[in-house]
Amino acid sequence: MPRVNVTLACTECKRRNYTTTKNKRITPDKLEFEKYCRFCKKHVTHKETRK
Ligand SMILES: [Zn+2]
Repeated sequence: MPRVNVTLACTECKRRNYTTTKNKRITPDKLEFEKYCRFCKKHVTHKETRK
């Protein structure tokens, strides 16, 4: 299974708050999650970022 490590960055402060893995074959698109950012102190959209 081609699982790759993915870093999720807050779209507001650009900090990388989460890491996860995904299956590239099933999810070729960039991931996007609504997650809590402890720097912004609220829920913010976090987007997949490379490195
Ligand atoms: Zn943030």
